[in-house]
Amino acid sequence: MEFYTKVWDNVLQDIRGKVGPLRFNLWFKNTRLESFDDNCANILVPNVFTQVWLQENFSNVLREGIGKLVNNNDLNIKFSISKNGEDGNVSTTNIPLTVKKADDNKNYLPLNRNLKLENFVVGPNNRLAYTATLEIIKDKYPSFNPLFIHGSVGVGKTHILQGAWNRMKEEQNINAVYMPAEKWTNEFIYSLQKGKMEAFRQKFRNVDIFLIDDVHFLSNKQGVQEEFLHTFNALHELSKRIIFASDAHPKMIGQLKENLASRFMSGMITKIDKPDYATRLLILRSKAAKFDVHFPEEVLEFVAEKFDENVREVESALTTLSAHAKFDERKIDLQLANEVLGEFFHAERKIIKINEIETAVLSYFNISRNELHSSKKIKSISFPRQICMYLIKTLLDWSYQQIGNYFASKKHSTVMFAIKKVKEQIDSDKQFKLFIDTLIEKIKKDSPLHPDI
Ligand code: ADP
Ligand code: MG
Repeated sequence: MEFYTKVWDNVLQDIRGKVGPLRFNLWFKNTRLESFDDNCANILVPNVFTQVWLQENFSNVLREGIGKLVNNNDLNIKFSISKNGEDGNVSTTNIPLTVKKADDNKNYLPLNRNLKLENFVVGPNNRLAYTATLEIIKDKYPSFNPLFIHGSVGVGKTHILQGAWNRMKEEQNINAVYMPAEKWTNEFIYSLQKGKMEAFRQKFRNVDIFLIDDVHFLSNKQGVQEEFLHTFNALHELSKRIIFASDAHPKMIGQLKENLASRFMSGMITKIDKPDYATRLLILRSKAAKFDVHFPEEVLEFVAEKFDENVREVESALTTLSAHAKFDERKIDLQLANEVLGEFFHAERKIIKINEIETAVLSYFNISRNELHSSKKIKSISFPRQICMYLIKTLLDWSYQQIGNYFASKKHSTVMFAIKKVKEQIDSDKQFKLFIDTLIEKIKKDSPLHPDI
């Protein structure tokens, strides 16, 4: 391993322990140590938002970490933006694209063999999505087609799709294809550039069941949507079965062509909600059984109670616990859970108030509170206002009506439109997404901790 990489890995390990995995992944994952000497360290970051954030919040931690190595606790830390910018670095796909050539049509994707339908815990939040999936995979001519599953991050959409794929592979000899929309898009663009469109189209004609994940990725990509519609129509005419997954309802996917949205909605639409406590506990038990350490029931209950946002976090909580148990030779008990997982949920356990949200937006855009609440339509005011509405919806979950009343009696539909617009931009613009994440981080950081913990 290259020297700087080694040093950086070392520093990062320390930081990861300090800031917790959530923030670590958000801010440090795509950084690199370019060089250092005894008075200055150069760190490469993917974009300006990361730079500002690290400068403001982590300069000291970094100075300490690298400074130790050169015996200088007054080290200068410089940031520069890496040449390839943010491209690919902040990708939201969680499946590595290991297929080397886009036209390699045998090897679709390295699917996760553990994501089986047998291991999927069915609860009130996902029952409909689950049963609808069973119907589609059992019945060659299901009573609805396509099936469109939507829900926020980590609620099990990919699990269902890949689980369906695994089952189709095991039980029947049919051509099931699972693919994230991003990969489909890459193949499409590749084929277009290489003049292999005919082969590309042909390939999808032969699919019996098409499981396509994260279709919100198509947001804002008009040309790609056109071709996607093409594939969809061809499959649908041949009565091939299709399941879509997305992080938003078709109507809420930004800049989606009207006819594509209506195709998405032409079969069954079902939402997976966040699991309730009882379901989370069941999921935890099933995940815990796969570890080679024992998790006492009270620890599982503790995790189920604290981690109510997203199942993926629940899983990393178990992984973190088991790692500590092994390396620190500790017993897994409530005390360890409290110590080790504190970092995890503190960020989630802040009491966020409208005031912190407004202050963050106002100070970033440098406008006054009166302007924010005015009905001025110039972009320099209306844009921050829209962002503010989006944040209130996301962080406080106010109704559209409540938000409207708060902002100079705006209409319900105006608020809905504003929030949709912000969401669209988040979906289509990685820089913007990072910016919003930064704001949210800042708001959480400035908010007080919940007194209960
Ligand atoms: P999404 O695609 O909705 O973002 P994933 O399918 O990737 O979410 O799920 C995140 C993690 O949570 C996966 O490891 C998955 O196995 C697990 N998970 C989510 N819901 C369930 C469930 N109902 N039963 C078992 N595991 C679940
Ligand atoms: Mg997914």
